[in-house]
Amino acid sequence: MSERRLAPCGTPAAYDRHRRRGEPVDDLCARANKEASLERQRKRRVRAQKARARADDARRLGSAVRLAPVADLPLTPGDDASDPNPLTDAREDYRLVMTALSRALPREVPALSRRREELVQRIADLKAQKDAIPFADRLAEARARVVRRRAERR
Ligand SMILES: [Zn+2]
Repeated sequence: MSERRLAPCGTPAAYDRHRRRGEPVDDLCARANKEASLERQRKRRVRAQKARARADDARRLGSAVRLAPVADLPLTPGDDASDPNPLTDAREDYRLVMTALSRALPREVPALSRRREELVQRIADLKAQKDAIPFADRLAEARARVVRRRAERR
């Protein structure tokens, strides 16, 4: 490597080169190294701060909106009044989202708006499914009877 291509004194690369070669470190390079390490420290602090802010946002959204995974919800309400009803749950979630929106910080609004749109769509879908429920109910009931009879015969 020719001397011209080496990093000049006063750069972190020159500081590293001095250390590697066991050369004495001049003031210019010592200062460059110190500034570079302060800059790295500053960037680490900013990254940590951003991560904390993101975690705070997630926590706040999580407590404002209780989310029930759609796959876990039964499509038909059972005879038992304590059975979860997807339409009631969706309306309750919608109410929670609207409450959260009324108190939301500006940066929380986009996520809550998306959630509200999803819930409006889901409530509309569930209402449209209502016609199919009586048949699905009868089917579930018939299956439960078969299972009970098999168990009794044992
Ligand atoms: Zn130097």
